[in-house]
Amino acid sequence: MNTQNLMLIDPHIHMTSRTTDDYERMRQAGIVAIIEPAFWLGQPRTEVGSFKDYYSSLVGWERFRASQFGIKHYCTIGLNSKEANNEALAEQVMELLPLFIYKEGVVGVGEIGYDDQTQAEDKYYRLQLELAKETNMPVQIHTPHRDKKSGTIRSMEVSLEHGIAPDMVIVDHNNEETVKDVLDRGFWAAFTIYPNSKMGNERMVEVVKKYGTERIMINSAADWGISDPLSVPKTASLMLERGISLEDVRKVCYQNALEAFGKSGQMHESDWLTPAAVDQREKFLNSSVLRGGQTPVIGGPDADEGELGSNIVR
Ligand SMILES: [Zn+2]
Repeated sequence: MNTQNLMLIDPHIHMTSRTTDDYERMRQAGIVAIIEPAFWLGQPRTEVGSFKDYYSSLVGWERFRASQFGIKHYCTIGLNSKEANNEALAEQVMELLPLFIYKEGVVGVGEIGYDDQTQAEDKYYRLQLELAKETNMPVQIHTPHRDKKSGTIRSMEVSLEHGIAPDMVIVDHNNEETVKDVLDRGFWAAFTIYPNSKMGNERMVEVVKKYGTERIMINSAADWGISDPLSVPKTASLMLERGISLEDVRKVCYQNALEAFGKSGQMHESDWLTPAAVDQREKFLNSSVLRGGQTPVIGGPDADEGELGSNIVR
C-alpha cells in the first residue's frame, strides 16, 4: 500500500470486535482517526445495564486503547434498529442516551435507522432523530440490507419530516442503486467496503469516477463478521492506482468525514496533528494494553504523521 503519507479517517468501524494487531496495522497504513458507531454485539442484549456498560466502553476503554496505538477514537451513541424491536428494553435504553450524548468524543447519534422496517424501529428512529435535533448532533444512519433502496429513501424522508438538515445526516451502507437518491437530496453518502461481497473496493473506484467526491465517504464497518479494518487504506491505494487524484482520494477518505462529523464540535484536525505522545505505560482505570513482561511503546511527541512506526521505541 502506498498510503503511508496520506492521513485517513475510518468513519464507521466497530473496534470493540478488533485486536491490538488491527490498531497497529491501521495506524501504519495512515489511519489517524476513527468513529465507532454504537451497534448490536452479534446477539441481542437482555438488560439495560449491558447497554450502559457498552456505551461506557465506547467513551472509555476503547477510546483509551486506540490512543495507545496513536489513533484518535470517536463514537456515535444510539439504539440500533435490531434491538429497537425489544420495546420494553428500548424504553430503558432511550433514557440512557442523553447521559452519553454530551460525553467527550461523541460525534453524533448513531447508528440508527431501519433494519426490518418494523413499527418499533420507526418509533425509536424518530425519537432518536428528535434527540439529535435537540442536541444539534449529526445523525449516522444504518440503512437496511433488505429492501435497501426503499429503506434508504424512507430513512431520509423521515429525517426531513423531523426537520433535520440533510447535511447533518450521514447515510451509510450505500451502493450504486442508492447513491444518486442520497446525493440529490443533499445528504452525505457513506459506503462500506466489504472484502468479498457487497460493495467491494473495485466498485467503489467506479462510484467515485461516476459521481465525484462531493459528500461521499468510505468506511470498513469492520465488526464481528468477515470484514477488513484496512478497507479505507486499501481502497485509497486502489483509487490512486486507477488515476483518481490525490486531492479526490483525500476528500473521500479523510476530509468529508471530518467535515460531516466535525459538525458535532467534538472532532478537530488538531486532535491528531498535535497528538500527545503514545505512551503504553499509561493506564485507564488501572488497566493498560500491556501484558506480562511486554516492553511499552513510547512514541515521540514530534512523531510525524503517518510515520509513527518509525518513531516508536521498541
Ligand atoms: Zn455498523
